[in-house]
Amino acid sequence: MSQRQVLQQLLEDMDTIRPIIIAAMPDDLSLRTTTRRMIADLEEMQREPAVPAATYLWLSQLTARLLDAEHGALLRPGPDGEIPPSARQSVGAHGEQRQSLLMDALQNIPAACRMMDQCCTLIGQRPTHETSLLEKTRHLNSCLSIHLKQNAELRQELQQLVEALSPSLDAISELLKEAGEESPELLQVKQLLDQELPHDAEQARQLLQHARMGIVLAGTKLASASAKLQSNIQSNLEQLNTMSGKLALAESEARNDPLTGLANRRHLAEFLNTLGDSGFCFLICDIDYFKKINDTYGHDAGDQILRQLALILKESIRSTDFAARVGGEEFCIIFPDTELQGSAALAEALRQAVAIQPFKTDQGSVPVTISIGVAAHTQGTPHASTFKSADKALYSSKENGRNQVTVANA
Ligand code: GH3
Ligand code: MG
Ligand code: MG
Repeated sequence: MSQRQVLQQLLEDMDTIRPIIIAAMPDDLSLRTTTRRMIADLEEMQREPAVPAATYLWLSQLTARLLDAEHGALLRPGPDGEIPPSARQSVGAHGEQRQSLLMDALQNIPAACRMMDQCCTLIGQRPTHETSLLEKTRHLNSCLSIHLKQNAELRQELQQLVEALSPSLDAISELLKEAGEESPELLQVKQLLDQELPHDAEQARQLLQHARMGIVLAGTKLASASAKLQSNIQSNLEQLNTMSGKLALAESEARNDPLTGLANRRHLAEFLNTLGDSGFCFLICDIDYFKKINDTYGHDAGDQILRQLALILKESIRSTDFAARVGGEEFCIIFPDTELQGSAALAEALRQAVAIQPFKTDQGSVPVTISIGVAAHTQGTPHASTFKSADKALYSSKENGRNQVTVANA
């Protein structure tokens, strides 16, 4: 039985015993049982923190005296049916004693009333305006019931809260660990909440207050850790973006000619590797008298011509063909899966396109021609010998007056 239940029982008992005493029924055996229980209840009530010591003392004195009187009433007739004279005397004496105790009890009623009012105030309830002890007892009784019910509900809510907090605490703890933050206060909170909530409301409140402070502290740490983490992630992302941009640029620079945007020698080699020993034709072209163009119109105009020629090459080839800048004013084209005849025709078309094209520079329009050499790759021969054949054919074009296509003999 809980302390509060004991107190409640005690008050109920007093309620029972009072009218019996007043009606002066000294032979009632149940009176004895009730008063004995009241003594036991009082002993337990001694440990009830909500009842002031002075009140307890007053109650126990009053009850003990009533119990003494009751002993007198227990004097019963002997086996012969006669009450011994000494017993009669005792009963008589007890009767008188009871009479005076009743007077005492009556005198004590105002004090008992005050005690009931005090008890109501102690548990945060309003005392009743009724003045009789019986009404006051009833009121205190109902106040206690409400108080105990509320207290039980509150404790249950707190317990549920503590249980619900546990997984959140674990999650916060994990996050802090990942962010590299120490969280000793969380560990403390967990230890605090793992304990059983103290029965004393004040102690329970303090424990929860303590736990709350720990959680608030850990929450602040978590907020700053997550901000730190977020800004770290942000700067990492920015670094990654810059790096990947630089990488893309480096990759493109490593494989493409910066002036014309065409593939460079390295890129050409990679492309040829993908062809292996399959059939293809190789075209090499070189601007005629480019040194002279540079000398006449300037190096910048020369660059503009190189870019325009690259553009013509890109636009003239098919999607499966591959163009590259392989020297200062030397370019090449690979025609995969193309016969020598077809390649020669494409080369001729290219030569003509360049020859009729006005090359616009800042120094005005410049006439440009190109010389071309074409060779077919035959299976089993190394790529290098195909290039050599094409180069030889180009040399012939130059030798024979430039602005022409020479096809290497297969
Ligand atoms: P040929 O008809 O025999 O080919 O005569 P050419 O003058 O074209 O040949 P040569 O090899 O004597 O001269 C090539 C010139 O190309 C020399 C060089 O200054 C120029 N050149 C090389 N690379 C570049 C470049 O990137 N820009 C410019 N503007 N000129 C370049
Ligand atoms: Mg040259
Ligand atoms: Mg040249």
